[in-house]
Amino acid sequence: MEYVHCNLCGADNTVVRYPCTIEERPDGDHPSDWSAYACTHSGYGRHHTIVQCRECGLVYTNPRLDSHDIVDTYEAVEDPLYLEEREGRVLTFERHLKPLERVAGAPDSCSLLDVGCYTGVFVEIAARHGWDAWGLEPSRWAVEQAQARGLRVVQGTLDTADLTEAQFDVVTMWDVIEHLTDPREALKQAHRLLRDPDPAEGKSGGLVVVHTINIDSLFARLMGGRWPWLMEMHVYYFSRHTLRVMLEKCGFEVVSAKPQGRYLRLGYLMNRVGALVPFVGRPAERIVTRLRLRKVTVPIDLGDLFTVYARKV
Ligand SMILES: [Zn+2]
Repeated sequence: MEYVHCNLCGADNTVVRYPCTIEERPDGDHPSDWSAYACTHSGYGRHHTIVQCRECGLVYTNPRLDSHDIVDTYEAVEDPLYLEEREGRVLTFERHLKPLERVAGAPDSCSLLDVGCYTGVFVEIAARHGWDAWGLEPSRWAVEQAQARGLRVVQGTLDTADLTEAQFDVVTMWDVIEHLTDPREALKQAHRLLRDPDPAEGKSGGLVVVHTINIDSLFARLMGGRWPWLMEMHVYYFSRHTLRVMLEKCGFEVVSAKPQGRYLRLGYLMNRVGALVPFVGRPAERIVTRLRLRKVTVPIDLGDLFTVYARKV
């Protein structure tokens, strides 16, 4: 385990917001289950101590697993259940792309990099819509899945990948920033990779798009310690305010910030509800299966997920 200072302001002055729910071993070390880092893992309610910075308000896991162990875990993760959920992801990303194009403009072969693209579902949809789309992903298994579909996905992270600066018009991070060990450095790297503004040509700077969970949302506040996104694999819990401040510190200007939900198939949704509240979810999953509704797709928006669009300035 490692103790870290606040990633937003550098202070070391926190208050515990959600105490650790993972049992400590007699040697003082917390046991950790690597599979808890798979995208579809249902470790709701199982997390290390979550603190809030008294100086700037950033909420984060502290102490946490050593950064190198977290990165190694993401390189090794395999997640076949994610493949089964492809249809839900396709619908979600189709819906994400529309407002993105409203802000960024028509693709016209503009270049886009999806950071933490996993099996490349968003890369594939963006390419189909006319974007010159690229992906970056640490999981070797997920990169193989993406490359088998003919997608241009590079294995690695923003720190390790050899990408040319100022080459992309858009960098997207869907449900990724809350998993990163150094989100501020990642946003600085995204800034470096995005095209520079060119006032003489009347061109604005490149656009970063960040979709994440909102610790300050009404639903999160109502749920308190039972908010399902309090999970071991989430190391940062942003609010609209803390994400805005971090983006500004990294050289961005926020264009818009809006709640944005997702689509899930009913079978998968009930499976997740079952992991959270077994006595409700398990019977509901059986009913959904009996009625052959598992593949029906439903929109889910509890207001606790949001997307921020910010321009390089
Ligand atoms: Zn702080």
